[in-house]
Amino acid sequence: MHILVTNDDGVTAPGLLALAQAVRPFGKVSILAPDRNWSASGHVKTLDRPLRVRPVVLTDGSEALACDGAPSDCVALAHAGFFDEKIDLVVSGINPYANLGHDVTYSGTVTAAMEAAIWEMPAVAFSVDSPDNHLGLVDYAATAAIATQVVESVIQYGIAPHLLLNVNVPYLPLEQIKGMQITRQGLRVYHEQFDKREDPRGKPYYWSIGSVPGGIPERGTDVGALAEGYVSITPIQLDLTAYHWLPELNTWKFGPKVSEQG
Ligand code: MN
Repeated sequence: MHILVTNDDGVTAPGLLALAQAVRPFGKVSILAPDRNWSASGHVKTLDRPLRVRPVVLTDGSEALACDGAPSDCVALAHAGFFDEKIDLVVSGINPYANLGHDVTYSGTVTAAMEAAIWEMPAVAFSVDSPDNHLGLVDYAATAAIATQVVESVIQYGIAPHLLLNVNVPYLPLEQIKGMQITRQGLRVYHEQFDKREDPRGKPYYWSIGSVPGGIPERGTDVGALAEGYVSITPIQLDLTAYHWLPELNTWKFGPKVSEQG
């Protein structure tokens, strides 16, 4: 079992080290992750420049590789040329903040797993719902223990092709976590706001100042599971087709071309 560990917070992030240590019991671990923070960068494909990789040593002495591309670039590179040995599983994280609902399209943690799904590598994204105002360093211990359990099951049962698991863990001591809940994506509530300012040359610029998103804690959703103290495990697919709306769209009558209208 060859496991690739990546993340979107950068190769030196403590969450990555916690995840790498959590999956070590299952096989050979390779760490290839961005050399800087790519949080909220979405699903990236770097085409306009080459990617460079350099070795780094993490704080526990383990060898890792830092790449100047995005998380999804790291996964594509790992899959298609960097390693001689085939990758059997991709794990991404541990992100210090939850990735729920529509977050999955913004999240570098999740889009790294999406890239793996494209290449038919089983993949799991791990995030912990630490509060924005927590004091001191984020504690990854409980999420790392959960990651070990989830990866054990992934190896046992397998993930269907082109799917990934998005795992979010409540920020609680392990003994206070109530269990695992299989969920669907819930609804995030974003507070988008831009502050309009003026640069020294008098030109306007816009700075995103939206506060931390909330969510609707509906039962059965990722948001709901975390609110109840459960680990949320959501199977994610890249087919974003709105199947329920296909019949409605098929009733549309598309008129003649504009140029042909009287
Ligand atoms: Mn991040």
